[in-house]
Amino acid sequence: PAAGDVVLKVDKIRKQFGGLTAVNDISFEIQAGQIVGLIGPNGAGKSTTFNLITGVLSKTSGQVLFRGSDISALPSRDISRQGMARTFQHVKMIPDMTVLENVALGAYTRGQSGVLSSMLRTNRAEEQRMMKEAQRQLERIGMGAYMHEQAGNLAMGPQRLMEIARALCCDPALLLLDEPAAGLRHKEKQGLIQVLRQLQGEGMSILLVEHDMDLVMDVCDELVVMEFGTLLTRGTPAEVQANPAVRAAYLGT
Ligand code: ADP
Ligand code: MG
Repeated sequence: PAAGDVVLKVDKIRKQFGGLTAVNDISFEIQAGQIVGLIGPNGAGKSTTFNLITGVLSKTSGQVLFRGSDISALPSRDISRQGMARTFQHVKMIPDMTVLENVALGAYTRGQSGVLSSMLRTNRAEEQRMMKEAQRQLERIGMGAYMHEQAGNLAMGPQRLMEIARALCCDPALLLLDEPAAGLRHKEKQGLIQVLRQLQGEGMSILLVEHDMDLVMDVCDELVVMEFGTLLTRGTPAEVQANPAVRAAYLGT
């Protein structure tokens, strides 16, 4: 994608849970190669926004355009097939399996309905292809040395990177990361920042929900700030930090 291309356009998306408007006509865009942070207090509607974009939840109203095509009505597996990948706030893994196998599952599940059904339908050549893809993505983000370790034995930092490697299988154009720095030590955070910058350098676009303000301010090109389901403001980290409404509502100063 060329710089300046809009990868993701979120247009007045809304989600009602009964009488509660969890996401209230939120709009923003992500340009190719941008890292955008989605921030706001607990309950602001960040996770719901993520789920509306990825098709995990259906929208009450509004539209999502991904690389120019309307994905508003598509189920999540079709959206992921088109090149949008995500990680979850809580690491999903099979602890007894190796890191490589766990990442390969990302290639299996990609565009498939369920892990088990897709594994049963998968032949030997396909399995080889997925293992190779998993290895490629692990090496891409400096995780090659962990390939044959048992996933359950990993520290939190490598666990988060394993999740990112899995999301990278099949080369998505947009990554959505849900609190990738949660539970990480300072050094692990620095490693994560390096990986995010590297991916950005390779043309990846990233949407990041993250509570760690230092990391967000450091790595994001733009921030989208939510409060009570609404968009409080958007701008560069410097603009957002200087915004009195943000300071009052979020930074508590
Ligand atoms: P955040 O991720 O910013 O902490 P959420 O998107 O999880 O916020 O939640 C936004 C609001 O929507 C909260 O008030 C939450 O309680 C509510 N909410 C989230 N999911 C559901 C659901 N499935 N049913 C009802 N209310 C929900
Ligand atoms: Mg959340």
